[in-house]
Amino acid sequence: MTKRNYATVNPCVMCQPMGSALAFKGIENTMVLYHGSQGCSTYMRLHLSHHFREPVEIASSSLNEKEAVYGGTENLKKGLKNVIKRYNPKVIGVATTCLTETIGDDVPAIIKEFKEEEGIGDDPEKDIIIIPVSTPSYGESHVSGYIKALDAVVRKFSEKSGEEEFLKIPNGKLNLIPVESFSPADVREIKEILEFMAGDYIFLPDISDTFDAPLREKLPKIAVGGTPLSEIADMPNSRASIGLGVVSTNLAVKYLEDYHGVPGHNVPIPIGLLNTDLFFTELVRTLGCPIPDKYQNERGRLLDAMVDVHKYLYGVKAAVYGDPDSVFSLTTFMLELGMNPVLVSTGSKNRDFEKRIKQIFEEIRPELEPVVLDGIDFDTLNDAVSECGPEILIGNSKGRYIAKARDIPLVRVGLPIHDRVGAQRILTVGYRGALELLDRITNTILEATDTFTAPVQVEPAAYAGEGAKDERVEGSR
Ligand code: SF4
Repeated sequence: MTKRNYATVNPCVMCQPMGSALAFKGIENTMVLYHGSQGCSTYMRLHLSHHFREPVEIASSSLNEKEAVYGGTENLKKGLKNVIKRYNPKVIGVATTCLTETIGDDVPAIIKEFKEEEGIGDDPEKDIIIIPVSTPSYGESHVSGYIKALDAVVRKFSEKSGEEEFLKIPNGKLNLIPVESFSPADVREIKEILEFMAGDYIFLPDISDTFDAPLREKLPKIAVGGTPLSEIADMPNSRASIGLGVVSTNLAVKYLEDYHGVPGHNVPIPIGLLNTDLFFTELVRTLGCPIPDKYQNERGRLLDAMVDVHKYLYGVKAAVYGDPDSVFSLTTFMLELGMNPVLVSTGSKNRDFEKRIKQIFEEIRPELEPVVLDGIDFDTLNDAVSECGPEILIGNSKGRYIAKARDIPLVRVGLPIHDRVGAQRILTVGYRGALELLDRITNTILEATDTFTAPVQVEPAAYAGEGAKDERVEGSR
């Protein structure tokens, strides 16, 4: 690949504070405030609302030149006051941005001071809970912002219990915490599986309604839905936690295990056959109940479909890019389908990414030698695509320029998807999600190669008059 002497061109990740918003927006009655300049919150609101097609409210402490020199304490306090007055939230997530991290504002100290001045305590029953997260964008990406915010939320709601020598009252529930943002359709699917498995569960963060709300006559100030606060406070009482994702470290799962003794198990995001099997195996192990017939049948249908499309997908060279754990699970699925993921990449910097990806190739198709890249931008991805020559791209809509310039079809998965509608309804998890993804990938390839999808039955001789032949035209793949 071309060697460069400049930093980043078209990043393949989003801002770290945006990740925190994805997490906070899945929590009941929560408002997000970015401590920084107004542009940060405007950019992220637009980015998210173009993807989910929902209004996304994010407040800003709105710093300008003066505060950049003298500090943003007063602006943050003013911002918090305004948010409380206008939105009346139960929780405010305060995420820092590049500017406020660079000038060194001590946000936890400012919040402490603000709470003392306003007489706000720490009782979730009566008080507004303010949760600071340090998310300078030059440090990491939206993936780490998301993980950090969830960790901060779980810690905050367990804090009081800790101080009072928390008396455990086992609730028999199962905590489910993904390391990356799922689509609302994905969250709904996981919740449905858990309901079917007769398990009492807590899913954090639940964006199934907040980012995919029904049309209402009156727009609520804060989107309805999200994980109830009482359930978050109850997470230390759960029987176990399942972290969805194995490449990034799930800090919330780790915290609950280390400080509250809740056993944590991380499984890959359940995309594809193997990963969904692993998810169900973990559920069976934890809940002690069998897999319902409904899902046995869905698994059977997926297997049937995999056999059906094998002739179209076998050996197809693919390039996949996106968030580390989604890419890991998508790659596993492509290997199961007989595809050849020649280029596997993520924009996030993750030291375990290459090791994990190579491991899964070793287990499923050791003869393949993919190019594996982390911390890339789209410029690097473009070069890598040119070298690896994939026949299909799988990733978010920001890869469309590469797809268009090189005339390679693109299957849109992940975040953001700005040039198509329905991102919030894209289902990839579970057997049903795998089936839908498989259809999308196969049909995209069929459309691009103009291959017949099935043998074409020509009119049988008996109906076509004398001399007519009964012949079949086979597809080229
Ligand atoms: S990169 Fe930094 S300054 Fe730019 S929008 Fe993100 S947080 Fe704000």
